[in-house]
Parts: sequence; C-alpha cells; structure tokens
Amino acid sequence: MTLRIHNTLSKQKELFNPIVAGRVGIYLCGPTVYKPAHIGHAVGPVIFDVVKRYLTYKGFQVNWVVNITDVDDKIITEAAARGVSVTQLARELEQQYVDALAALDVTSIDAMPRASEYVPQMIEHIQGLIDRGYAYVVDGDVYFDVGKDDDYGKLSNRKPEEQFAGTRDGLLGKGKRNPGDFALWKAAKPSEPDDVKFPSPWGPGRPGWHIECSVMSARLLGETFDIHGGGMDLIFPHHENEIAQSESLTDKPFARIWMHNGLTRFNTKKISKSDAEMQKAMQELQLTNLLAKYPSELLRFLILSSHYRAPIDFSDSTIDAARKGLDTFYRLFERIERLTGSNPYEAGVRIEQLFEVATDPSAHALVKDVLAEQLRFLEAMDDDFNTAAAIGVLFDIAGLINRYIEQSRLEIRRSEQPRTFAAAATHTLVFLGRLLGMFLRPAKKQSPGDDALSGDLIALLIDVRNQARQTRQFEIGDLIRNRLDALGILLEDRPDGTGWRRK
Ligand SMILES: [Zn+2]
Repeated sequence: MTLRIHNTLSKQKELFNPIVAGRVGIYLCGPTVYKPAHIGHAVGPVIFDVVKRYLTYKGFQVNWVVNITDVDDKIITEAAARGVSVTQLARELEQQYVDALAALDVTSIDAMPRASEYVPQMIEHIQGLIDRGYAYVVDGDVYFDVGKDDDYGKLSNRKPEEQFAGTRDGLLGKGKRNPGDFALWKAAKPSEPDDVKFPSPWGPGRPGWHIECSVMSARLLGETFDIHGGGMDLIFPHHENEIAQSESLTDKPFARIWMHNGLTRFNTKKISKSDAEMQKAMQELQLTNLLAKYPSELLRFLILSSHYRAPIDFSDSTIDAARKGLDTFYRLFERIERLTGSNPYEAGVRIEQLFEVATDPSAHALVKDVLAEQLRFLEAMDDDFNTAAAIGVLFDIAGLINRYIEQSRLEIRRSEQPRTFAAAATHTLVFLGRLLGMFLRPAKKQSPGDDALSGDLIALLIDVRNQARQTRQFEIGDLIRNRLDALGILLEDRPDGTGWRRK
C-alpha cells in the first residue's frame, strides 16, 4: 500500500516518498500567542498528530515541529491593552495552548521553537537576502522585493495584480518598490516595549511574521524538508512568502509537500445577534472552555469526522452527531467487557492472530470480514489521510462485531470460542482507532449502571422472563419487559433467543 498526499503546490495527490528514506520532517505553523486559542487552532495539531501517528505506524521516523509566534504586532497591542509585558502575555497563552493540546492527546510534537529565540538566525537569513539582491532596506525596515522573484505566486496561483491584496503590510508602505513587497524586518517604534526590540545591522527592531517560519523550519528540519502544513487561510500571503524567502536564499526547493487543512465554520445564526452575544459565543469556542464542557475525545472525533481539506462545521448538531457516533463504540466496548471479561482498552489478542483457529463458519466469516475492513481502513488513510472514510470503516467493524454477538447468542449462551473472537475483533477495532489517537483510555461512563453487574442482572431477568413464559405466566413476563422498558432497556425477542439494548 502506498501513501498519496494532496500537495497544494502541484494541486494533485502525489505518491509520498521522503527525502531521506525512512525519515519525515514536518513543519506546522503554530499560533500567534496574543489571545486564547479557539477550536479552530486545535484542528491543525489534531490532524498532524494523526499524520504523525500514521506515518510512525508505517515505519517512518517522524520529526514534527510546531512553532510559537511570540513576536508580532498583535501581541504588542494586546499586551499594552492588558498592561502586561509582551513576554508575560506570550508565555501565559503559550502555556494555555500547550495544556489544551495535551488534553486533546496531541502529544507527538517533537519541538515547539519560539520565534524570539531565533532572532540572530533570522537576521543572518535577511542579510543573505539583501546580499543576493532580493531584499532592500528603507529607514530601518527591510523588505522582500517580490519583483526579483520570478516564481512568486506559485503556491497560491495569484496574478501579480492580486498579490498584495490581504497582506498584513497594507498597500504601499513608505519606500516600497512593489505593493506586494513584505517586511522581513520592522524597525522599532519609540512607543514599543524593550522586550520586542532586538539589535540588528539595520537598527533595533523585530522580524516579520513570515521570516520566522522560514528560519525555524530550516534550522530544525533542513533547507528542504518533506511536509509543511497549515490552515488554508495561510496559503497567501504567509506560505507564499515563506517559499519566496527560503528559496531565494538557498536556490533549493523549500517544502516538498504543502498540506492545507480546511477552516472551522461556526454556527453563525447563533452569533450574529449583538456584540455582547457574539463575544459570549466566541468565548464559548475557546479551547479551555470547550475542554471543560466536552470530553476531549469528542472534540477530536468531531475534527477527524471530516476529511482534513474539507471545512469543519462546529455547531450543537455536529457535536450531537459526534456524541452519538462515539456512543456506538463505547456501548460496544462495555458490551464486550460485560460478555467476555476482556477490557478493550488493554492489550489483547487481535483478530488476525486467530485466523488459523477460526474453524467455526461464523467465526471464520468474522475474521475474514474484519480483516477486509482493516484493509479498507488502511487504504482510506493512504488516500490523503482520509480520516472521515477511516472512521466510517470503524463503524462498519463495530456493526460486524455486534451482529456476531447476536448471531452467536452471546447474551444468552456465554460459550468460550465466540467470546474470544468478539473480544479479538474489538481489540483490532481499538488498535485501528488508536492510529487516529482515539480510544486511548476508557471514556468516562456515560450513564450509571453500565457495568458488568448490571449486564448480569439484565441477563438474569431475561432468563426469569423466559421461564415464566414457558410456564404460560405471561403477566410476569410482561411485567419484566415493561419495568426494563421504563429503565430504558429494550428487550428484543428473536428466533435465536432474547437480546437487549439501550433505547
Ligand atoms: Zn508559519
């Protein structure tokens, strides 16, 4: 099986082959730490955490870097408004961000460099661009000259006249040669605090946002590396400018593959009312608040339920759908533990290990079907990390296991062999889920009584009801059915016995 990844640069899916066999370098643009992160800021990290888990599963050694932009105009403004130092604000929000990622089980990042700690290297890079004629100095500012860069615009496919639209630097700054020229270095203003004034050959100042990523990625991953990621809103100007700065200095390709994730869409009906309501709604979307309200696995599951290049709809109804979806798995895991005594969250025999011993026709069919689904799961992931399709396969496997439990009448006849097969199929399901960073630990119990004893008591009541019906004591049978029904337990009489499920 071969992995194909959609490359924004070529606009197509490409066969993935790393630059150095067996090793993969990934750079993801991290946050500018000036206000609390919201759910949209978690999307990239969750997706690339899955990319890393999957590449690691395929045998690659992955080095994944996510930067922290702690030098930026927005941080200076916000720190002044709050009356704290830039460093204090940046560190506080960085810690909040790191804690939120840990809560989301984004634990595979290898390095989180801070821009403020790479300023000498940035100055070196900018000086190199000036020496090669790609950059020029105007009153302590340094600009990149897009007119000198022949393939400027190759990532975003913008025409030259569109190239300056939407840049952070406005239209024509003082002394700019082209409207699209962007700042590599910004001269310090007298009003700005000392912790963002760095000495340079062009006077005190600070680096521009784009150069930060060009320099940190090259220092940690090399001048050419495998995968560069970020939100689709970063394609222009940020990533276009990263390419221009990096390739104009090195004459080498910068990132080989550009992966861009879709943006998060919020339920705007709810937040388009008044400013105060809007502010409240935005506050609810802050990661720390969401993590206090919802299980982190639910947020991860919601993010991965769309393909990464598609937008993610974040609303009450999509959260609800994700919760219902997850419950399918949690109910199965509880059922398996109750029926087989095997804890799906602990290491156990997987279904492929039982291939030889599956002599019983229905067990043999289960093994074959689950293995076919496992293959479909891996094919979905190989197809540009299609987590949405992969999750669909997990649902199919859960369905197979539930049908097998019913066919083998495991709720009534607790025979040894079918138990082993149902448990092993579930261990395979959990194993695949973990490639998505799911099912790492038991979910908190959703409703009280979901334990082995409750299951045994229901099985006992079913036996008593069947005895009563055999001796034509139908009112006792109906009493049991109705009382269980009132508790939310639905009995299902089938030709092969009585099963039960939650309503
Ligand atoms: Zn960046």
